[in-house]
Amino acid sequence: MGAIYRYACPSCGYEARVAGGKSALMMAKTQTYQCDDCRELMDLATEVVDPESESGARPDWILVDDLKCTRCGSRNVRIWDGRTCPKCGATMVEIEGDIIMAD
Ligand SMILES: [Zn+2]
Ligand SMILES: [Zn+2]
Repeated sequence: MGAIYRYACPSCGYEARVAGGKSALMMAKTQTYQCDDCRELMDLATEVVDPESESGARPDWILVDDLKCTRCGSRNVRIWDGRTCPKCGATMVEIEGDIIMAD
């Protein structure tokens, strides 16, 4: 189970709902990335459960080596530092009390 936080930029008004770092869901481990082309934040799956692994047993994780922006398809993505607005470079703030639990 992972939590999705809401981040907002006080400078340009950009908002994103992301985990803000490493997170783990049932079928994937995710990390928050920013795209240098469309300047969006997103959680990308960095490891996924091997569909061949037996259910119920300890799942096998496969590393995803082909990370792409979910919006524009660019491979120009890098790990977000947890605070910098991808649009304008200002420091984003986490909106408290607005957390979505995801599973
Ligand atoms: Zn901004
Ligand atoms: Zn993009």
